[in-house]
Amino acid sequence: MPNERVSKLRTLVQELGGDAILITNEINRRYLTGFTGSSGVVLISAEQAVLLTDFRYREQAPRQAKGFEIVEHGPGIYGDVAALLGKWGVKRLLIEEQDMNYATFLSVQEKLNPIELVLSQGAVEKLRIVKDEQEIAVVQEAADLADRAFEHILGFIKPGVTEASVSLELEFFMRKEGASGVSFETIVASGERSSLPHGKASDKLIERGDFVTLDFGASYKGYVSDITRTVVVGQPTDRHREIYDIVLESQLNALKHLRPGMTGHEGDALTRDIITRYGYGEYFGHSTGHGIGMEVHEAPRLARNSDTILTPGMIVTVEPGIYLPGFGGVRIEDDVVVTDDGIKILTRSPKELIVLD
Ligand code: ZN
Ligand code: ZN
Repeated sequence: MPNERVSKLRTLVQELGGDAILITNEINRRYLTGFTGSSGVVLISAEQAVLLTDFRYREQAPRQAKGFEIVEHGPGIYGDVAALLGKWGVKRLLIEEQDMNYATFLSVQEKLNPIELVLSQGAVEKLRIVKDEQEIAVVQEAADLADRAFEHILGFIKPGVTEASVSLELEFFMRKEGASGVSFETIVASGERSSLPHGKASDKLIERGDFVTLDFGASYKGYVSDITRTVVVGQPTDRHREIYDIVLESQLNALKHLRPGMTGHEGDALTRDIITRYGYGEYFGHSTGHGIGMEVHEAPRLARNSDTILTPGMIVTVEPGIYLPGFGGVRIEDDVVVTDDGIKILTRSPKELIVLD
């Protein structure tokens, strides 16, 4: 029984003028088949759907890749691919050009000769950009996990602990709670380091008077969450409150107004215009948000140069920030899913300035 993702992909393949598509990207392979093994390729034509993998997955592949014919390939996978395509009479094959390096391309071209290789132009990624209900439910679980980790870590952060130990504790907690891992290397940036938008946790000790920016996420059942909260250790100064309140106002404004039909550019302006109005535009040097799903950075983006139209089922982050060199920075990030008439917020950790004293 062919699944809905495969049917949609077949339509795209036809539109692009191909007889079949070769899937080499491992995330796309998992998205289409459900197979979680670490190697193999997928071939889909109008009639056929085949997963080629090796001996190690003899039992796992048929169990996971329902509706796919499983072919155990020999020492050179493309010999078997060529044989199948020849049998099916394929003349034009779409390839995932963003996944294939040039050396592999040349070798595939030679082995599949005279089949013409055609660019798939991110066909599977175009499907992945809109999530179905089941995917949204899994991202919600990944977001819940991150929320629980944030609540837990508040009791752990205090003067004298290192950023690295905070990062480790976050990861340990999420894995105990069922995460397969972190969705990206955890950012813990305290004090002046919090002005580094991507400050990886270091051996710096957290001190009184520090902003601490925590940016992390859980990887769960093949999907990810991505949340940022900034807290202050010790009593905040007026400067801390000023910066924090502006970032929060801009973030809440975006959450209130984001809706389907808007472009990525318009979504970005919802936070940027407010930060700019307060005079901090030049200290907000990154985009407002990015898509998440099976990967932590995927389409669509909420960015000044994005024309993508937001549609129901897209999941994006909303993460404005202000970064002041020599002082510190604030970022607040939530994951949201676009609905028929607005958005639903998936991460629910509190956002008023948390003072750990
Ligand atoms: Zn993040
Ligand atoms: Zn993010």
